[in-house]
Amino acid sequence: MAYRVLLLPGDGIGPEVVSQAQRVMEAVSAQFGLQLEFDSADLGGIAIDRQGDPYPSSTQTLAKSADAILLGAVGGPKWDVLPASARPERGLLAIRADLDLFCNLRPALLFPQLAASSSLKPELVAGLDLLIVRELTGGIYFGQPRGIETSTAGIRKGFNTDVYDEVEIRRIARLAFQFAQKRGGRLCSVDKANVLEVTMLWRDVVSELASDYPDVELSHMYVDNAAMQLVRAPKQFDVLLTGNLFGDILSDTAAMLTGSIGMLPSASLNADSRGLYEPVHGSAPDIAGQGKANPLATILSAAMLFRYSLDQSEAADLIEKAVEHVLDSGLRTADISGKESEFVTTQTMGDAVVAAISTLA
Ligand code: NAD
Repeated sequence: MAYRVLLLPGDGIGPEVVSQAQRVMEAVSAQFGLQLEFDSADLGGIAIDRQGDPYPSSTQTLAKSADAILLGAVGGPKWDVLPASARPERGLLAIRADLDLFCNLRPALLFPQLAASSSLKPELVAGLDLLIVRELTGGIYFGQPRGIETSTAGIRKGFNTDVYDEVEIRRIARLAFQFAQKRGGRLCSVDKANVLEVTMLWRDVVSELASDYPDVELSHMYVDNAAMQLVRAPKQFDVLLTGNLFGDILSDTAAMLTGSIGMLPSASLNADSRGLYEPVHGSAPDIAGQGKANPLATILSAAMLFRYSLDQSEAADLIEKAVEHVLDSGLRTADISGKESEFVTTQTMGDAVVAAISTLA
């Protein structure tokens, strides 16, 4: 059976890292006799330039029929002059909503080889392995009303609406409980239930589900404390469950614990486990086109794609082992090198992972 994988390289370093991940996917598929058919389409700034829309209908058609999607990144200064509703990032929000990708998984795993690259002391992060489960299609990023209005007195007012109904909370919370069951059995739900009604409901609904998962230890934490605990003692966490806005911020904080944003993969799934896989980082316009981008976050996103959407966990394991092997061999891109002059290019890092796949298979 052939799997249809849609590539959305996007902007900035997106095409550079996606092409390396595609080579890795081809290499691992060859090892396991899997048939992958790749399509490629525009999303973000490049889609605005070519088709006048950050999420054109041609991309939408391919996205809806794909088994899984691998995205690079979107955005850049060239498009920052556009109104918010027409910017590249709107394409990303649109595809997430269109495919109902409500469950965003962001693992923060510290490769032991990179303990020294973390912004925290090695003893605080050695062995770090946490999973952030972020609700992705609701909350303040989508809530209505939203906008900027000018009053009759000429005063501008900006506003957004943070809104979740209990159905949305329940479906993401159930998945978070299930991930906790498969991992360390601990789930911490993050909210601001001391101030925001929407998260008072969030806490109630998550608590109501706990009796269905007696093997999971549920706790709750306010988001300000969670931010503090993530940089004070991050190893206390197993699975963190949170809404769209808090998840956005906490997952970037967790990113720095692992050494580099260039190492962090993510998955966004819908109810059928079809998903969009992408590195946590953005389009890094400051290094685009220079061969400096670390492709490992995208390669590790491809591993998640094999695991969650294609149900090929052995292929996923092999990619992850190949990445470890390459790190063991001492190869580093600039962001994880820690040394001004000793680093390899995006392409060399991709070559090494492809080679490691055939060595380890
Ligand atoms: P960014 O993640 O692009 O870059 C932050 C810093 O990390 C930069 O110094 C960059 O060089 C570095 N970096 C990022 N990825 C790297 C990699 N793979 N290897 C080495 N270094 C890497 O975030 P930003 O600068 O805030 O945003 C730049 C653009 O990306 C903006 O237009 C923003 O809207 C967009 N963005 C897109 C996404 C997405 O597509 N999912 C996410 C975040 C930001």
